[in-house]
Amino acid sequence: MKKVLVVGGAGYIGSHTVRELSDNGYQVVVADSLIYGHREAVFTDNFYQVDLADKDALSNIFSTHDISAVIHFAAFAYVGESVIKPSKYYYNNVVNTLNLLDVMLKFNVKNIVFSSTCATYGEPLYTPIDESHPQNPVNPYGRSKLMIEHIFEDYKKAYGLNYVSLRYFNAAGCSRDGLLGESHSPETHLIPLVLKAIKGEIDNITVFGTDYDTPDGTCIRDYIHVEDLASAHKLALDKLLGGSESICLNLGTGVGTSVKEIINAAERVTKKKVPVLYGKRREGDPAILFAAAQLAHDYLGWVPIYTSIDDIIETAWRWELNKRF
Ligand code: UDP
Repeated sequence: MKKVLVVGGAGYIGSHTVRELSDNGYQVVVADSLIYGHREAVFTDNFYQVDLADKDALSNIFSTHDISAVIHFAAFAYVGESVIKPSKYYYNNVVNTLNLLDVMLKFNVKNIVFSSTCATYGEPLYTPIDESHPQNPVNPYGRSKLMIEHIFEDYKKAYGLNYVSLRYFNAAGCSRDGLLGESHSPETHLIPLVLKAIKGEIDNITVFGTDYDTPDGTCIRDYIHVEDLASAHKLALDKLLGGSESICLNLGTGVGTSVKEIINAAERVTKKKVPVLYGKRREGDPAILFAAAQLAHDYLGWVPIYTSIDDIIETAWRWELNKRF
């Protein structure tokens, strides 16, 4: 059985992926700094509280375990904070990835699946966004992820690194059985905030802008279920270990949903009213983002199982009512 190291495996998408891998024939070792991750989200004793800044601690993991590949989720991901504190983002996301790559190469581990983002595209020139859409990120978070994609390209040529970079659209939902879910502090994402407003945990949800050039005036995004993201990581890993070529892939449903449609869906699912305020646009939010998702389907044989936004929100609602962490 192949052993895989998942860094950032105690986070939202990481923890769902760890479970998917463990359930499907991989031995999994998890490393996470626990700055944002949750130990309770990791169902394995093979856990190391390690920051990627600490190369000795990382090396220790590689000398203890015979690692075949790495899945790399460890990153800071607050776009607004990245604008105010770019140094924090470039050190944590870029420099620490260089550390990880140094240690991988020292131990001759050359396969990596990377958590990238549609934020590397920046303001879209057209939709749906395919993988050859120009990449002009508009904030340090997106730039840090794009820099890492470029580093992989160079490391492939120079050192024979093999990679799959997965560019997620909007991750959403929680595991079908309610054991894993989204727990960010602070929470900034639309769906959990809408559900918290329904619960009364916050007073209301503010819709950021109603004057966009979209059918109902609110922003459109591509919400992809976290368990579908997890299955794509497992398939990407299978491919890499099978000797396939390095590639960058979008992970989305290919369907756009507006902020108002999310609010309506949340009301249908919970049978409760959402307290809504209508506010100004949030800086840096493009009107419409959704994926051309064909390449991931063709390359990985990946098909998202969650195709209805109500279904996605239902899993998030179950989690919100019964959060374990
Ligand atoms: N949004 C909103 N109110 C909020 C949070 C988000 O109207 O309190 C909107 C935001 O403008 C975007 C969409 O919801 O169009 C998704 O935002 P989120 O922060 O969840 O993800 P992002 O698209 O920024 O990655």
